[in-house]
Amino acid sequence: MKVYLDNSATTAMAAEVIEAMSPYFSDEMGNAQSVHSFGQRAKAAVEKARREVAALINAAPAEIVFVSGGTEADNLAVRGIAEAHCDYGRHIITTKVEHPAVLATCESLEGAGYRVTYLPVSRSGLVSIGDVREAISDDTVLISVMLANNETGTIQPIEEIAGLVAEARARGLDHLHFHTDAVQAVGKIPVDVTRLGVDLLSLSGHKIHGPKGIGALYLRKGTRLTKLLYGGHHERDRRAGTENVPGIVGLGRASELARTQLDERMSRMRELRDYLEQEVISRFPDIRVNGDRQQRVPNVSNMSFGGIDGESLLIALDLKGIAVSTGSACASGSLEPSHVLQALGLTRDEVRGSLRFSLGAYTTREEIDYAVSVLVETVDRLRDMIPADEPESAEAGSVVES
Ligand code: PLP
Repeated sequence: MKVYLDNSATTAMAAEVIEAMSPYFSDEMGNAQSVHSFGQRAKAAVEKARREVAALINAAPAEIVFVSGGTEADNLAVRGIAEAHCDYGRHIITTKVEHPAVLATCESLEGAGYRVTYLPVSRSGLVSIGDVREAISDDTVLISVMLANNETGTIQPIEEIAGLVAEARARGLDHLHFHTDAVQAVGKIPVDVTRLGVDLLSLSGHKIHGPKGIGALYLRKGTRLTKLLYGGHHERDRRAGTENVPGIVGLGRASELARTQLDERMSRMRELRDYLEQEVISRFPDIRVNGDRQQRVPNVSNMSFGGIDGESLLIALDLKGIAVSTGSACASGSLEPSHVLQALGLTRDEVRGSLRFSLGAYTTREEIDYAVSVLVETVDRLRDMIPADEPESAEAGSVVES
């Protein structure tokens, strides 16, 4: 049996998404900028998808910019705002647990003379509103805090931070902007840009049963930012490059499914995730669930198995057809222990023994039952292999980001 429990890394495309995309690989191959009928049909498909993405997050279609994925959306948001508003200030506030798409962009801006505050998080992975308030200064142009963390699923208090941003603007800091990376939240919890109070929001197709290599940046009407790519006047001059029509169509259909099936998907995933956790914890009461157990997306469980090397466990599970990840997977080959779990204050042993289970819209009870039985047997076997005198603080294992 094959059980894919790594949906935070990527998801399988929904059958409806593949069906919707398929004509755009063959007969409907027009360039959305062309004047003839091929081009017009491609353009109509792109605009239909734009309306679907907008509807998913309660935005206006004109506020959606199609980009190549979550990474580009994050780069465009952070660099675009920082550069466009540098005359007002060069200070950015973010957190220590952001995805590298945000962190590495901030680091590169530091090299260009910007000042970045990386806020700490609590033991459960949450940023403190007091810390955000204290960090805001007259030269702050951007706050970027993710909605849901990719390793633990922890949901940050975005609405409260938006409240601080509104207060700061009322004091005259009109150049202050608020971005959230919602790549791991969209399709898992309701996401409404007006309720959240953000100016920019990143999302990605392949995390919501859509295609890889496509994403979107929500840009509140009137928000000014510089571009990453120069070329034609695509996407209302905000992102040059011939539109990835099949990808955009796929993202549109995936967004429609995510919106219309959200309630059903959320309750199914939450029920199965909680069942998985209960079964594992009832068998191994010493296991630690990482991140906030309440403020969490319904599809992720990050657990630390004391005394076990997460990589060995991952490989043993893979041999039995079960795909999970250690901490998080994307900067494959990295030997760095997870920066997220470290920021939560986990010991090296807890970081080393952590596994992330992430469910998708199509995960079944049978799959979870199989995963639990193999996991219990494997953890028992690996723990039996630990020599009684082996110290538990071995080097942290390699960790990948996604
Ligand atoms: N932001 C978060 C929180 C993610 O989990 C990911 C996934 O890897 C990204 C950004 C990058 O998205 P993409 O893979 O579409 O570039």
